[in-house]
Amino acid sequence: MHLENPAIHPERTLLTIRGVTHSYREGDRLRPVLRGIDGEIGEGRFVALLGQSGSGKSTLLNLIAGLDMADSGSIIVQTFELNRLREPERTLFRRRHIGFVHQFFNLLPTLTVLENVALPGELNGFSADESRHRAVMLLDEVGLGDRHDSYPDSLSGGEQQRVALARALVHDPLLILADEPTGNLDSATGRHILDLLDHTVRRRGKTLLVATHSREVAERADAVWELCDGKLMF
Ligand code: ADP
Ligand code: MG
Repeated sequence: MHLENPAIHPERTLLTIRGVTHSYREGDRLRPVLRGIDGEIGEGRFVALLGQSGSGKSTLLNLIAGLDMADSGSIIVQTFELNRLREPERTLFRRRHIGFVHQFFNLLPTLTVLENVALPGELNGFSADESRHRAVMLLDEVGLGDRHDSYPDSLSGGEQQRVALARALVHDPLLILADEPTGNLDSATGRHILDLLDHTVRRRGKTLLVATHSREVAERADAVWELCDGKLMF
């Protein structure tokens, strides 16, 4: 692994998960999905989260992003203890410190490519110029420097995912979470997205957790977590 950012220390833990459980309510019953998850990720590391469909990968990513609350246990991202934050603070935490890449891209259809990428910068208080400048740089990095004014629905799936990757990085988040980012793409396009994730994220010394079915993604990661029966196998 090559890190170009000397401020990054892999021995320093960025994400700590301890005893996390989560159930979903089904009528008057609770169905446990996570039954006691423990894990740690060091700064600048890339971890692949494997598990069959329905094993709880998205559930775990949503908890780490602060989109939902664990029933018990703790999730700490750098100095942020998510279970101690109230809802508005969790929203701010997510907006400021998490970059999320979704399987289905989730770009805003009424905004141009450049506007989609710049938006998280502006939401985090960067000036319009600064946000735009960062967005332009990132779009160049993902090879879409000539598509600033296009709308998402005129792009291919792979192009939309490249926009989504640029958007996930624009506000310089602590942690990138990607939920099956190659799951909706053909294998060659998926490989390109994987290369970009690996390079653009690692070049910045960002920490990356990717939920995936793909063994190829797992092979590129520094560590693999496998979700099975609500627990992590290492
Ligand atoms: P994965 O991402 O690994 O496919 P999920 O985390 O999406 O798995 O789902 C884990 C389990 O929790 C599945 O059985 C799914 O049906 C269930 N589940 C997910 N979200 C909800 C929800 N909002 N309400 C009820 N059940 C849910
Ligand atoms: Mg999922």
